[in-house]
Amino acid sequence: MKSVIGVLAVQGDVREHARSLESLGATTRLVRRPEELDGLDGIVLPGGESTTMDKLLRAFELRDPLREKLRAGLPAYGSCAGMILLADRVLDATADQETLGGLDVTVRRNAFGRQVDSFEEDLSMPEVLGESSEPVRAVFIRAPWVESVGPDVHVLGTVTTGPAAGRIVVVRQGNLFATSFHPEVTGDHRIHEYFLRMTRR
Ligand code: GLN
Repeated sequence: MKSVIGVLAVQGDVREHARSLESLGATTRLVRRPEELDGLDGIVLPGGESTTMDKLLRAFELRDPLREKLRAGLPAYGSCAGMILLADRVLDATADQETLGGLDVTVRRNAFGRQVDSFEEDLSMPEVLGESSEPVRAVFIRAPWVESVGPDVHVLGTVTTGPAAGRIVVVRQGNLFATSFHPEVTGDHRIHEYFLRMTRR
């Protein structure tokens, strides 16, 4: 049986993630309604604008059922705004912003500074990519970083150069995986491949 992977489709980089997953052989389903959460093997929460996504999740009555699925162990991968949605705590959130939560981390929105809206860096992530693999070209777009992590969170990637050196940008806790950067814009599918392996366990 092919995996069926949902892509949360209320806002953001939906098509790009679906394309990446399909190129790896997964069947994708765009998720806008609660019943579309049923029978998924995993779900991707794309980058976009976390405050808007939060509002739309509530408006589409997706927030509580999606929270329940995540608590029940549905594998999820959050990129950028998707990382913010998975975080238990958010710094620089808007007043009424809520998250789905589950990932015991504190993230800071737009952490890399407002002048530097986006930047790129080669990131090696041996646990994600394998010991001897080429680094991933990580594209950060008004990205959050992970300011602190709880005891059960595995840090899988940190920035190595520049003013943000040492900042945590890839994390995993059980069924939840998140990156600050956007892997769907580079044509390198190894991050999605890692997530698909998570969904098969
Ligand atoms: N800055 C956005 C937010 O707070 C995230 C940006 C992105 O997903 N590229 O939601």
